[in-house]
Amino acid sequence: MSGSEFIRELPQVPTTVKLSTELKTGSWRSYRPVIDHNRCVKCLICWVYCPELSIRWDGSSVSIDYDFCKGCGICAHECPVKAVTMVPEGGGYEGGR
Ligand code: SF4
Ligand code: SF4
Repeated sequence: MSGSEFIRELPQVPTTVKLSTELKTGSWRSYRPVIDHNRCVKCLICWVYCPELSIRWDGSSVSIDYDFCKGCGICAHECPVKAVTMVPEGGGYEGGR
């Protein structure tokens, strides 16, 4: 059986598609990004890369919307000055932003 024939044989099942801006995905997180504002140079590279649009910019500082942040760590990986640290959820950093 070819790949396309195999795919056609798969049963059709109902799926739900909902934008992650509607579905609060923050509860999926096991690690939370915490920004060191003393180190942050406000370049907004984290904002560009965040797949969940969870980085907020208020015109003077960067913060994270934890209702939607899934804890993927991309912002920490891409931050050029290593201002973002991923910390375990429940580790006492819940006040971080
Ligand atoms: S990428 Fe890093 S330095 Fe740039 S705005 Fe985000 S946290 Fe700040
Ligand atoms: S951990 Fe992932 S989802 Fe959360 S703010 Fe960083 S890039 Fe966005």
